[in-house]
Amino acid sequence: MRMVLLGAPGSGKGTQADLLKDKYLCAHISTGDIFRRNLKDKTELGVKAGEFMNRGELVPDEIVIGMVKDRLREPDASSGFLMDGFPRTIPQAEAFDAMLDELGTPLDAIILLDIDEEILVKRLTNRRTCRACGKIWNLLSMKTENKTVCSDCGGELYQRDDDAELVIRNRLKVYHDQTSPLVSWYAKTGKLYTIEASASPDETLKKIQAALG
Ligand code: ADP
Ligand code: ZN
Repeated sequence: MRMVLLGAPGSGKGTQADLLKDKYLCAHISTGDIFRRNLKDKTELGVKAGEFMNRGELVPDEIVIGMVKDRLREPDASSGFLMDGFPRTIPQAEAFDAMLDELGTPLDAIILLDIDEEILVKRLTNRRTCRACGKIWNLLSMKTENKTVCSDCGGELYQRDDDAELVIRNRLKVYHDQTSPLVSWYAKTGKLYTIEASASPDETLKKIQAALG
């Protein structure tokens, strides 16, 4: 299965990708995760990307495109992938089409996670990530007393730097201006499925599976 998850920040791309990769046994490729890992390891790529990420801006296309090209050549991607956070601009989508043409591996589906903007802001300000296992939590839906540790593994939960409210507003604006044009771009393929994504992760997963058939 080769799939793209499309949707605003906070729409649940990362959460759904985590659930879907176990069902369809394919690689989860999150460009945001790759940048964050590089930023933490202080690689050249990470330092460069970090400047843009902390302002809620997009990392320049040529950097992202080169990185995805390399990632797609890794062995685990040959059995399929879930793209989470890429493409995010029309030039990225054009470059991605060219990469897939060259590999002879067209996309099976593009999933658009559709959600109300006020819910997004609420989700993003309450989002926490486990430092140990990477699981994404939401403070509002956590059922435990202690909301500073991961209920799965006991790891410390942290808030992403770009989940501060002002940066969130900028990321939403960037989504509207630069990423949402991809909706009509992918609609033309006939493989775009729009999924209403304001309910729980499990309910959204069910809707995606129903759409994929
Ligand atoms: P979200 O979808 O919640 O905004 P991501 O983890 O996908 O979060 O991305 C975090 C940041 O990483 C983005 O705001 C951007 O700066 C950078 N980034 C990730 N993917 C891309 C991409 N395809 N093109 C440009 N920048 C990207
Ligand atoms: Zn954990």
